[in-house]
Amino acid sequence: MTPEGSVENALAELFRMSKARFGNAVKGYWLYAEETCPGCGRDIDLIKIKGKEAISLNALIHRKPGILIGYLLCKRCARQIFQAAEKNPYQQIPLHSTIEKNLIAAYDRYRNSLPA
Ligand SMILES: [Zn+2]
Repeated sequence: MTPEGSVENALAELFRMSKARFGNAVKGYWLYAEETCPGCGRDIDLIKIKGKEAISLNALIHRKPGILIGYLLCKRCARQIFQAAEKNPYQQIPLHSTIEKNLIAAYDRYRNSLPA
C-alpha cells in the first residue's frame, strides 16, 4: 500500500471512530495534503518509530462545519507534540493552536475554492 493510501485509510477509520463518539458533530473528513508542516512550514518527512518508517497521522475537528481534518507533521513538531502529551495529555501547547489555525485556514481556503 502506498503511504498516501494508508493515510487515507487511517483517516477514514478515525472518522468512523469520531462519528461513533461525537455523532452528528462530525459530518465529514478532509485530509490536509500539502507538503508543508502545519506547525512550522517545513517539509513533512517520515519519522521512524521503533526503527520503521512511519507517518504520524493526527486529526482535529473543525467545529463549525463539523469536519474531521487529518494532518501530518514534520519530525520536530511531531516530537514536540509527543513529548508534551507524555507530560500532560490534556494540555494544549502553543504549537497546537498554530496547527489548528493553519489547518482551519487551509480548509476554509479549500472550501472557498469549490464551486458554490
Ligand atoms: Zn513542523
